[in-house]
Amino acid sequence: MLNLSYTQMVKAMTESDASYDGRFYVGVHSTGIYCLPSCPAKTPLLKNVMFYTSREEAIAAGLRGCKRCHSDRYPDVLPDWLPAVIEHMKNNSQRRLTETDLMTIAGVEISTIRRHFQHNLGLTPLAFHRRLRLEHARIMITDGVDYLAAAYECGWESVSAFRDAFKRQFGCPPGRLYARADNHL
Ligand SMILES: [Zn+2]
Repeated sequence: MLNLSYTQMVKAMTESDASYDGRFYVGVHSTGIYCLPSCPAKTPLLKNVMFYTSREEAIAAGLRGCKRCHSDRYPDVLPDWLPAVIEHMKNNSQRRLTETDLMTIAGVEISTIRRHFQHNLGLTPLAFHRRLRLEHARIMITDGVDYLAAAYECGWESVSAFRDAFKRQFGCPPGRLYARADNHL
């Protein structure tokens, strides 16, 4: 969850306010890049913008760093192995991964991977992967897939564990989201 309001982020982006750099990232889905709020490039159209709390989430959404504001170098340079690891996580949203899987993809020690995720997201790499799997499930449910099917598809064997994790992440039970998706049809 972002601890800034949507209005605050829009304002920071519109004013290119550098004091917000590192607090959130601006994903521009029309160009496929993510920017710092202070990016000197022209302010993107709001309809193309999604805000992210971390670069890892922006990368998971298929975005890459910006050549103008060097968002991949702020607040620090992202490790070379990171995009491949996130890509692997995304491609495996239907099952659990192990730390060994991640090490194999990254080609670095698991302690290095753990340190990066803990430092930047306050999460273990496997907890970040679980968040991506929940996000994948959320998208399936809003597309109208039954939430039990979405839970199994995203690697949860226990529906109650899925329901708890989902509620913790999105603040609403998957059943209610499903009902809402249904109402839109
Ligand atoms: Zn930029």
